[in-house]
Amino acid sequence: MVMGSIPQEVDVAIVGGGVGGYVAAIRAAELGLSVAIVEKERMGGHCPNYACIPSKTMIHVADLFYSIKNAEKFGITVENASLDVGKLHEWRVSISEKLEAGIEFLCRSNGIDMFKAEATFLSSNTLQLSDGVTLKFKNAIVATGSAPRSMKGFGENDRVMDYRRALLLEELPKSIAIIGAGYVSVEIGTLYAKLGSKVTIIARSDILSTFDKDAVALVKANMKKMNIDVRTGAMPLNQTPAGIKLSDGSEVEAEKIFVAVGLDPYTTGLGLENTKAKVDERGFITVDDTLRTSDPNIYAVGDVIGQPMLAHKAIRQGVVAAEAIATGKASYDNQVVPAVIFSDPEIAIAGSIDQGEGIEIIKFPMSAIGRAVALDETAGFAKIAYEKDSGLVKGIEVVGSDATGMIFGAALAIEMGATLEDLADTIHPHPTFSEIIQEAAEAGLGRPIHFFYGRNAGKKT
Ligand SMILES: Cc1cc2nc3c(=O)[nH]c(=O)nc-3n(C[C@H](O)[C@H](O)[C@H](O)COP(=O)(O)OP(=O)(O)OC[C@H]3O[C@@H](n4cnc5c(N)ncnc54)[C@H](O)[C@@H]3O)c2cc1C
Repeated sequence: MVMGSIPQEVDVAIVGGGVGGYVAAIRAAELGLSVAIVEKERMGGHCPNYACIPSKTMIHVADLFYSIKNAEKFGITVENASLDVGKLHEWRVSISEKLEAGIEFLCRSNGIDMFKAEATFLSSNTLQLSDGVTLKFKNAIVATGSAPRSMKGFGENDRVMDYRRALLLEELPKSIAIIGAGYVSVEIGTLYAKLGSKVTIIARSDILSTFDKDAVALVKANMKKMNIDVRTGAMPLNQTPAGIKLSDGSEVEAEKIFVAVGLDPYTTGLGLENTKAKVDERGFITVDDTLRTSDPNIYAVGDVIGQPMLAHKAIRQGVVAAEAIATGKASYDNQVVPAVIFSDPEIAIAGSIDQGEGIEIIKFPMSAIGRAVALDETAGFAKIAYEKDSGLVKGIEVVGSDATGMIFGAALAIEMGATLEDLADTIHPHPTFSEIIQEAAEAGLGRPIHFFYGRNAGKKT
């Protein structure tokens, strides 16, 4: 279709085909609305193509390689274990392609019109697409996500990369320096160290500075074993032929430099100024609890509306925005957004484990869990924060193997208003790492089973 042709009209137009956008599209179509989705790059957006899935694909392979090389204690010795990085690259790319094709199939099957173009708002009910199509809509959902923040003196070149390129390397760098110390730096740094690169993380204060210090201490101990150098206190100044010069005069060796200093909301070229939608001082689109912007016709979901910038939050918001438009009855009122870090050991948390008035925290060690002992994965623990008087669970953190896989149970417990008693009395399958949540709850009730806290320590009837 060319510019000037009759505009297409839909109930809902969605800008951005990432996890927030395509999920909203599917839910709106299921609810009987006519839907168009506009994506300028790849359906699925960052998560399956450049971020969550590629990083976890690479982390899985790195873990496998590292385990093979460190399996002597189980009686397995593999001489000259080697890595074909070209094959790993092909595998990583094929996974994204498979998922992207699956998402397109689902959209087509649900009768959703897909446009590969950049969309700009002309008004509160019209979008202009870069391929010439004009889309008229009753409601729109903005799901344009985020973009990596750049850093002065470290603009992209052959050597300096953002996360997209850091997860698409066709050769293993001998050394890689990572500027930034959030979960993305830790995940990608650990995977490259396990594959054999020399990794340096340059952190302003510490890695994962907003996370539980007990959890971070375990991650740091393993990073040390992997020879990952964490430099704190000095700022990266500029690139040198060998790597990076720091403000304390030292130099970091780096064949590649990965800048991971955060994500900014992405609204470039969106034309929000032609609507009544507003952004806050950091550029995030502001919404109410139904995810409606200041423009009554326009909703927004995912990274573009703020923290936490996580795929599962965008997915939930996509569903809520579609339901709010179709039924007028939905609102985004989840109590917790779980967070998972695929570090070594893994960290997973739902709710808050902060000490507060009337809040008690119980900690239970992973070394007391049979499956952890069998797999030699005893580093870790579970913490449960609960109301002292009622036993109501406020937060659960698990650190250790499979922590990321079991945290959904914690989120469910909190959403359903579970107490310590509910967790303790729910049968957890044996032998699994998940038993740590039940054991921690038993301990919180003063009746620990597989750990001895000391005679009469916290015993309750
Ligand atoms: C390295 C890395 C690893 C991560 N790992 C995890 C993880 O393990 N778990 C997790 O929950 N989260 C993870 N995240 C975060 C996750 O990727 C994001 O939270 C998620 O992708 C946000 O989804 P979204 O739909 O809001 O936006 P996006 O996925 O960014 O999608 C937005 C889409 O909109 C398109 N677009 C933008 N403007 C326009 C326009 N004007 N017209 C048409 N199209 C447009 C873009 O091309 C893009 O495809 C990770 C992030 C990074 C960087």
